[in-house]
Amino acid sequence: MTLRSRTIRLGILISTIIIAAIVIFQLVWLNKVYHFEQKQFNHGIARAIRGFYEDINESVQQSNNLNELITSPDDQTFYVRINRNNIDQDTTKVYLQSEFEDEDIFTDCYAGLYDARKRQYLYTSYLPSATAAKKQDVTLKIPGLPYNHLTLYFPHRKQYILSLMNIWIISSIVLLIVLLLFSGSLYYFYRQKFLNEIQTDFVNNFTHEFKTPVSVINLAAEVLSQPSIREKPEKLATYAAIVQYQGKYLQDQIERLLRHAYSESRSLVLQKEKVDLHVLIHEAISNLRPLVHEKNAEIRCHLNAIHYALLADKGYLLIVLTNVLENALKYTKVPDIIVSTTNLNGNVFVSVKDNGKGIEKKYLNKVFKKFYRIPNGNQVATRGFGLGLAFVRKIVTAHKGKISVESTPGQGSEFHISLPL
Ligand code: ADP
Repeated sequence: MTLRSRTIRLGILISTIIIAAIVIFQLVWLNKVYHFEQKQFNHGIARAIRGFYEDINESVQQSNNLNELITSPDDQTFYVRINRNNIDQDTTKVYLQSEFEDEDIFTDCYAGLYDARKRQYLYTSYLPSATAAKKQDVTLKIPGLPYNHLTLYFPHRKQYILSLMNIWIISSIVLLIVLLLFSGSLYYFYRQKFLNEIQTDFVNNFTHEFKTPVSVINLAAEVLSQPSIREKPEKLATYAAIVQYQGKYLQDQIERLLRHAYSESRSLVLQKEKVDLHVLIHEAISNLRPLVHEKNAEIRCHLNAIHYALLADKGYLLIVLTNVLENALKYTKVPDIIVSTTNLNGNVFVSVKDNGKGIEKKYLNKVFKKFYRIPNGNQVATRGFGLGLAFVRKIVTAHKGKISVESTPGQGSEFHISLPL
């Protein structure tokens, strides 16, 4: 990683931490404001009730602390102890309304006078407010208290408190939107940078992949065009073979790119048929015989799955197995590869284990991205476009399967593929 990339990553990490801290701070702060407003509301109610006691000429004696006269089973309900039971409905309504207005409590309320002797409400009044919603059909609960009391029930208390916090909530939403936009731009910037990097790598690989065979073909053609070559049939055959080999190599690479471009432009259409996975594994190994030979590699098979007949696209599945096996051969100096299969929970698992250079933890997920090749090290010596595993993952996902990789750098990698039976 270059110094610049590291600085950018550090910058993004710090920005993410700051954004998370701002969001947490904002939420904590909103919560505090809500509790503060809630307290204010309760104090306002207490003061209004004191005023109401005075209005009906009922004294709150020193010994009778206001807190002892009010019980509140929940945030919306208050039971206010009253000695009299002969306050008429209009008086209650008028006094309460004026006390609430004095205390700036602008939410609707149901007030019911409970007669303990009769064990029922004598009446229930609705005190509307300009800001609150319409009257609903509310029956006040009977708490079973042994004394006369006035029940105050505020159905829209929560909404009212939230409406008092409107300005804070709006400013928090604006802040969150700004932060979201900022995070989005940050993500876009980072992604763009990542894409630029892999694009550069791709162009480099592309040049390398195509330039070398073309130069070799040109050189061979030059030799073949010399008249003296006709007298040396052996040399002629060698150079013709070189042209043929490089031509075939170029054709393979072009086909790979075309296949990828095709698969990118549309979703895979699977032509499913009954496939014998074990036969397919042997077919993939046999396809790679020249590379196995060239590398002096050993491939051992532990095909222990009992159920290995799949409904799958044979051609695509062969590409999956060939690609993973080819990588195991490509990225290992003297390959000793183990291919195994097992069954678990209605799936068949294929694992391809190599003894190669391995993949560092930070690259494990990236290798499945298109055009991605692990920087420095193995890609210089090995050919490729970084498309194989991206395509492999696409095929496995289309079959509702999964692919993952484990690796110990310096010791080797193991690719796991699971496919539903
Ligand atoms: P390509 O092999 O054409 O570069 P792939 O998509 O098949 O593209 O692989 C992406 C990258 O993952 C490779 O460039 C290589 O760095 C890494 N890789 C894949 N398989 C292995 C493996 N078995 N061992 C080590 N590295 C691997």
